[in-house]
Amino acid sequence: MVKMILICGTCGNEVEMVPHQVGHQIQMSKLVNYGFRVDTPSIDKYGDIGDYEDIDDVDVELREIRINCSKCQDDYIVLEF
Ligand SMILES: [Zn+2]
Repeated sequence: MVKMILICGTCGNEVEMVPHQVGHQIQMSKLVNYGFRVDTPSIDKYGDIGDYEDIDDVDVELREIRINCSKCQDDYIVLEF
């Protein structure tokens, strides 16, 4: 099993995220219960929806996700893709 441990290097706030048995997902929204806040992901979009007939033709790419420590309001980590 792969799990994710998130530790704030400033205040020591820590959470261990263990995936669900089925599907191996971690619910990032639950980080708020453990003193971390996830910003809205930064997503790049290529092309204008007006130029396409199908929404599936629009290319989108996840660029980064920033996770903030709510306890010390100071430290954060940026996950780049
Ligand atoms: Zn902190």
